[in-house]
Amino acid sequence: MKKIILYFLIFEIIAIGLFLLTDNFFYYLNFTYIGLCITIGLYLYNVETKYSKYARNFIQITIGLYLLIYLGILSSENMMLEGFWYYLFLGVFEAAVIHYAIAKIFGPFLFGRGWCGYACWTAMILDLLPYKTPNKKLDHEREKYGYIRYILFIISPILVSALFILKMATNTTMFYLFIIVNILYYIIGIILAYHLKDNRAFCKYICPITVFLKIGSKYSLLKIKYDKNKCDDCKKCYRSCPMDVDICSNDKNKTNATECILCMSCAKSCKKNALYL
Ligand code: SF4
Ligand code: SF4
Ligand code: SF4
Repeated sequence: MKKIILYFLIFEIIAIGLFLLTDNFFYYLNFTYIGLCITIGLYLYNVETKYSKYARNFIQITIGLYLLIYLGILSSENMMLEGFWYYLFLGVFEAAVIHYAIAKIFGPFLFGRGWCGYACWTAMILDLLPYKTPNKKLDHEREKYGYIRYILFIISPILVSALFILKMATNTTMFYLFIIVNILYYIIGIILAYHLKDNRAFCKYICPITVFLKIGSKYSLLKIKYDKNKCDDCKKCYRSCPMDVDICSNDKNKTNATECILCMSCAKSCKKNALYL
């Protein structure tokens, strides 16, 4: 329980800090709401354990819908990668820039790819599809898609720069771009999930945001820890992992930190209690 309260306090510190920095009460409400959703989710996971299998979905849906519907659609804020470049090029310290800085660029040094496991509105839908644990036999087929995310990452700032050059870079254009890119992401994500029998195929091969996420998450303070002495090498953790992370492998400094979304499926599947956060 103490840990849960600590997480809420961390979000309150961010909320108050940003409120004081920007003199904008919205940031206080924004981060308090996000902290509250995470706190309730952690409570469901750790204390009201009969609901624990829904805890992550609860956090994903309450935060994901808030970001997508309220900030993205109702407040017309492009929260996608293109929105980040747009506001950055304008030199405006807006929600998209703050969002990227905290959730996807600097935050991952602290909480890894927690964004991907608990807050992303794309994965919020993808995680409801039937292929929660990917078919490991299809690994070779999936690998050929791996380069796509890097291409999309490069295209994004080029696209926004082109909009500026063509004098089409307006809030309205960015709003429509937000809607179009989101719809495309959902369509591609769902098709890929069914084609590769893997809910998270989009995250592994297409999503350009992983380029940012992987940098910080490699050095993340928060990561799954592995007690080798308790392990009997049954590989249940690997088979249950939606991101194909082999947490017991020797190359964990390289792979585990950057692909792991801290979903805790591996820890739940380990009967030896060899995995923990
Ligand atoms: S990889 Fe991309 S789509 Fe997947 S959860 Fe992370 S940010 Fe969302
Ligand atoms: S599930 Fe536990 S015991 Fe089995 S390989 Fe993974 S860490 Fe080891
Ligand atoms: S290693 Fe464990 S916590 Fe990380 S993504 Fe895989 S199952 Fe989830």
